Amino acid sequence: MALTAIKGFNDILPDESGRWQHIEKSARRVFELNGFSEIRVPIMEKTELFRRSIGDATDIVEKEMYTFTDKGENCVTLRPEGTAGVMRALIEHKLYVQDPVAKLYYLGPMFRYERPQKGRYRQFHQIGAEITGVHDPLADAQLLNMLSTFFREIGLDEPALQINSLGCPECRPAYRNTLLSFLDGRLDSLCEDCKRRFTTNPLRTLDCKVAGCIEATAGAPAMLDHLCRACGEHFDGVRRYLDLSGTRYSLNTRMVRGLDYYTRTTFEMVTCQLGSQSAVAAGGRYDGLISQLGGPEIPGIGFAMGLERVALLLSQREFVTTPDLFIATMGGGERDLAFRLMDGLLKSGVRVEMDYEGKSLKSQMRRADKLKAVYSVVIGQNEVSSGRAAFKRMADGVVTDAALSVDEIAKVVKCFDSPLK
Ligand code: ATP
Ligand code: MG
Repeated sequence: MALTAIKGFNDILPDESGRWQHIEKSARRVFELNGFSEIRVPIMEKTELFRRSIGDATDIVEKEMYTFTDKGENCVTLRPEGTAGVMRALIEHKLYVQDPVAKLYYLGPMFRYERPQKGRYRQFHQIGAEITGVHDPLADAQLLNMLSTFFREIGLDEPALQINSLGCPECRPAYRNTLLSFLDGRLDSLCEDCKRRFTTNPLRTLDCKVAGCIEATAGAPAMLDHLCRACGEHFDGVRRYLDLSGTRYSLNTRMVRGLDYYTRTTFEMVTCQLGSQSAVAAGGRYDGLISQLGGPEIPGIGFAMGLERVALLLSQREFVTTPDLFIATMGGGERDLAFRLMDGLLKSGVRVEMDYEGKSLKSQMRRADKLKAVYSVVIGQNEVSSGRAAFKRMADGVVTDAALSVDEIAKVVKCFDSPLK
């Protein structure tokens, strides 16, 4: 039997990789413009790092991690998200000593043992960004503006920004108690997961997608109404800065992120185009995380977006690279000339294709069509002896006569006044 990939692990084939590159290039451009530098961290870390940062009572740590013991008896985990590793690196290399403000981004594969479906896989990819060292809500707003700009850059009006505040260790415990009293009388209507969450992580019941839980928690007290003064002022600041920059958002008082480290501002970019996989990007503040991992008291905020979901939103559009020119030959000695021209043109940055196998002219032209070459030229004995050829613009058949030299051809296919260029 032929071998296949592991369930939930996908190949990204050549006809999709153009779209991925478009997304990655746009993210790098927008993030670097905002002063972020790339950080590359390992895809595997000590399991302890994720338990301590994400939290033992979260879905990720409870049931989604790829954890195993390696040959040296170390308990290791394939990273389920990026922030933990980036913060571990920040602390390990004391990046905050040189500059108290770090603006970092990362991209790469993440691993979670979930039920695969559209937009949800076991190996998936995230691009994420983190700002550490800034308490001011200005950082929250810049990060959110950067995310919105990125989506505009790649040509999507959607997804929409939703924000919330999860408070801090000052105000959350009291709110948790208020919520517990509310939930206490409704326990019977909650799903099995939420019954468990009632003791481990009651805020998560607000985020449950099960219809019975949504109904039972309707009218639950909201963290936003129970923020302490400092958290309230901080959240007002985030909203003011977003308004100042004209960024549209809505409040979602039920948004609770699935990682324990979040404090204060949390947000999601949501779409209604991907069924229940509605979050395309998500993140928030994690002011206590760095000290919790053994580093100094440094605040942080970040987000991660799922590339598969962004690619799905862009899937109507084509991102294939097409050749500027296809050189067909009549099959004789002119192949040497064609090869020499192709080589020279490639070296000067013109995308050229030619026939590799001495196929018939008809089949060469079919291939030029299939590759969506912008121009084609046929080189036969006449062209070799006259040193000139007719370059046909495939879209409308307009023909330009030009000398068979690299410079002349480059001028025709790159600079010719073409509506396609
Ligand atoms: P969801 O509610 O969809 O499970 P999440 O809250 O677990 O998402 P985060 O941990 O915040 O997601 O990750 C940020 C982004 O990464 C998500 O918004 C999503 O786009 C993407 N993502 C998360 N899990 C997966 C997955 N299994 N497959 C594909 N993309 C994913
Ligand atoms: Mg999840």
